[in-house]
Amino acid sequence: MTRAQSWARLRERPEVDVLVIGGGINGISVFRELALNGVDVVLAEKSDFCSGASAALSRMVHGGLRYLENGEFKLVRESLLERDRLLRNAPHHVKPLPTTVPIFDRFSGLTNSAFRFLGLTRQPSRRGALVIKTGLVLYDLFTGGRRAMPKHEFRSRRETMARWPAINPALCNSATYYDARVSHPERLGIEMLRDTMAECPGAVAINYARVERDGGGPVLHDERSREQYSIAPKLIINATGGWIDLTNAAIGSAAPHHGRHQGLAPHHRQPRAVQKRSTVT
Ligand SMILES: Cc1cc2nc3c(=O)[nH]c(=O)nc-3n(C[C@H](O)[C@H](O)[C@H](O)COP(=O)(O)OP(=O)(O)OC[C@H]3O[C@@H](n4cnc5c(N)ncnc54)[C@H](O)[C@@H]3O)c2cc1C
Repeated sequence: MTRAQSWARLRERPEVDVLVIGGGINGISVFRELALNGVDVVLAEKSDFCSGASAALSRMVHGGLRYLENGEFKLVRESLLERDRLLRNAPHHVKPLPTTVPIFDRFSGLTNSAFRFLGLTRQPSRRGALVIKTGLVLYDLFTGGRRAMPKHEFRSRRETMARWPAINPALCNSATYYDARVSHPERLGIEMLRDTMAECPGAVAINYARVERDGGGPVLHDERSREQYSIAPKLIINATGGWIDLTNAAIGSAAPHHGRHQGLAPHHRQPRAVQKRSTVT
């Protein structure tokens, strides 16, 4: 559907089941999931798609290694699953990222890690070989049979010095584990959109369409023509990330609930009336 056809479709039939506001990676993911499940859904983005935080990542696709220490196993399992799906589904954008950690002693961080695991502290501390090795073994176990990347490598001082002769000789070990990186996150978002439009020709995604409120209900303001059109959704999903409070104010919502989301990997199941709040990872 072209942009003109999308506007024409909304003029003819403003009633829609779901309006998703915000065309970043979260809005696109929600839109895609709803459209593929046969829901009548409209996505409105005030600028270009994926032009907000979703174009400005540090480009990491986290597996969630650091959450192991807090005992957040479910989160790590889900992050690894989504990371490996991205590696398989978008190998042209998402690639393994070997990450090497120099380690300077054997036993640091044991007490702190135990306290973090028990939820008694959030303070970070230096981690020694034992803590890092335990974390990386667990990380490999969580990756399990879905493995899309190599297992971690753990090296002695001698092996490390042989491989990187200029490294700080004070270290006692080094470890390399694998996360992933996304080269062009905005292109990944656009591909998800195009893929959705090809699968679901009835779904409507419009950019340069700011959502506001005018009188009774929400309106779509065409940033190009300056025209404005009413829309009558049964449900609104506010996926505007850093703009979430401004959007709530603009549409007159009391913001009853914020779903928390970290990072790029899309969450597929959304509770009703969720308003997604992004956090920097
Ligand atoms: C500096 C930085 C580095 C980061 N690095 C990483 C990283 O390495 N790895 C990682 O996984 N995550 C990283 N993140 C987090 C990641 O960027 C976010 O979790 C993710 O991009 C949020 O996506 P989003 O769709 O919620 O928000 P956004 O991408 O910001 O999308 C929100 C959209 O809503 C639109 N909008 C706002 N108001 C309206 C309105 N009234 N009508 C219509 N549209 C509207 C905006 O134009 C915007 O496009 C980083 C974040 C930052 C800030």
